[in-house]
Amino acid sequence: MNINLKELEVWFVVGSQDLYGEETLKQVAAHAEEIAHYLNTQTLIPVMVKYKPIVKNTDEIFATLTAANSTANCIGIITWMHTFSPAKMWIRGLKALQKPLLHLHTQYNRDIPWSGIDMDFMNLNQSAHGDREFGHIVSRLKIGRKVVTGHWQDTEVLERINVWCRAAAGWHDWQGAKFARFGDNMRYVAVTDGDKVEAETQFGFSVNTYAIGDLVEVINASTADEINALLAEYEANYELADNVKAGAEFHNNLIEAAKIEVGLRKFLKQGNFKGFTDTFEDLHGMVQLPGLAVQRLMAEGYGFAGEGDWKTPALVRACKVMGAGLVGTTAFMEDYTYHFDPQDAIVLGSHMLEVDPALAVGKPRIEVHPLGIGGKADPARLVFNGQSGNALNASLVDMGTHFRLIVNKVLGVAVQAELPNLPVARVLWKPLPDMKTGCSAWILAGGAHHTAYSLCLTPEYLQDFARMAGIEYVLIDEDTTVGKLEDQLKWNELYYLLGK
Ligand code: MN
Repeated sequence: MNINLKELEVWFVVGSQDLYGEETLKQVAAHAEEIAHYLNTQTLIPVMVKYKPIVKNTDEIFATLTAANSTANCIGIITWMHTFSPAKMWIRGLKALQKPLLHLHTQYNRDIPWSGIDMDFMNLNQSAHGDREFGHIVSRLKIGRKVVTGHWQDTEVLERINVWCRAAAGWHDWQGAKFARFGDNMRYVAVTDGDKVEAETQFGFSVNTYAIGDLVEVINASTADEINALLAEYEANYELADNVKAGAEFHNNLIEAAKIEVGLRKFLKQGNFKGFTDTFEDLHGMVQLPGLAVQRLMAEGYGFAGEGDWKTPALVRACKVMGAGLVGTTAFMEDYTYHFDPQDAIVLGSHMLEVDPALAVGKPRIEVHPLGIGGKADPARLVFNGQSGNALNASLVDMGTHFRLIVNKVLGVAVQAELPNLPVARVLWKPLPDMKTGCSAWILAGGAHHTAYSLCLTPEYLQDFARMAGIEYVLIDEDTTVGKLEDQLKWNELYYLLGK
C-alpha cells in the first residue's frame, strides 16, 4: 500500500482583472509562475504545485475552478490576489468549487523598497487590499478555507501550506474509499456505531459488511508456499518467543496466524479496501481472532479498529495518508487503564491484540497467549513498547445531529517498567493540559475509547481536515479548561443545528 503524495497536485490560481493593461498582467503572470515553481521545488511541500494561467474575469474563474473539480489528482487550490480582483467575479466559481481551498495571503516583494517605491510598484503589489476583497466573498459565501499569511519564501508559511496539503491528501484519499466491515457492530456498543449513509454523504467513503464466512473461504484457500513465505518474513523481522518457534508447542498457532494474514490481505487487495474492522463476536469458521495479521496490515497503511468500529479505521487511514513520509506514525489505539499517581498520572493504551507495530521501540516479539474473550484458539500477536514524544489522540464520533472530531494533545511517555505478565503491546501517554482536565474534557465532548494515536501529526492537520469535511472540531490542549469547553460544546451544538 504505497502512499505517494507526489502523484497529487494542488493548483496555484492567481486572480487579477483586465483593468491593469497588458504589461502589468504579464508581470502578475510571471510572478505567479515563479511562486508556483518555488513552492513546487520545496522539499517541505509534499505534493506537486501547478501554476495555472491567471484568472481575470467571471468566466475564467469559473472555468479554472470547475476544471479543478474534474481533475482526478487535483486535491485542492491555493489562491492569491497579486492585484485587486473584484470578488463578485469569484462568486460563480467559488459556489461551484468542490475541492479544498487555501488562501495564501502573501506579496511578491517581501519588503517595501523605501527609496524606490513609486505608483507602478503600488499598482502591482496590491495583495494587502486585493486579498481582503477576496477573503470577504469567501466569508460571505461561508466557504471553509485556510488562510496563510506571510511572505511565500518564509519557512513558517511553507509549513502551514505543507500541513494543509497533507490534510487535503487525506481528504482526497477518502473520496470513493471503501472500508470492509466483517460482521456487524459489537452488540450494544454505542460509540462505534453510527450513520453510515450520512458518513458516505459527508465524507465520500463507503462502509459495507461482509460475512465472516466470505473471509474464511479466502483464508482457507491459502497455499503452503504463501504461508511459508510469511513465516520466513516473521523470522526475519521479529523476535520469536521460544514456544512459537518451529517444532515448539505453539508453532501451529503461528502457522494459523500466517494463514489468516495471507487470506485477509488477499481479501482486502481484491476488494480494493483501504481499511477494515472485525468483531470477536463474529468469528464463525475462524480458528483465532486475527491479531498478528491485523497488526502487520495496519503497519502497511490499512486503517483498522476492532469491534465493528468503522469510523476509526477511516480516521486512522486518513491520518496515515496525511503523515506519509513523516517521522512517526498514526495507529489505532484504545485508552485501556489508568495510573492515577498524582505526581505522574499516565494512561496505558493498548488493545486486545491489535496494536500497530509501526509504534514499536526496537524489534517486536511474536508471542502466543490465550485470549479470554471470543472463545477461539490462542492467537499470535506482536508484543512491544510504544515510542515516546509529542502525540495526539483523535476520535471521530456521530452525535446524531452531526459528526464531531475530537483531538487531545498528549505527551507520549517511554515505557520504563518491565511488564512480564502483559501479553500485548503497550503505549503510555499523558493527556494535556493535565490528566484530570484532559480526561474530563474528552468525556464531556463524547470522545470514543477508540482513537487514532499519532506521533507525526499536530492538531493543525486534524483542524484543516475537519474544515474540509465540514464537521465540528474540538481541541483539548494546554489551554483547555472544562468550563470553557462545556460552553464551546453548547455553542457548537447550536451552530450545527442551525446549519441543518
Ligand atoms: Mn476496542
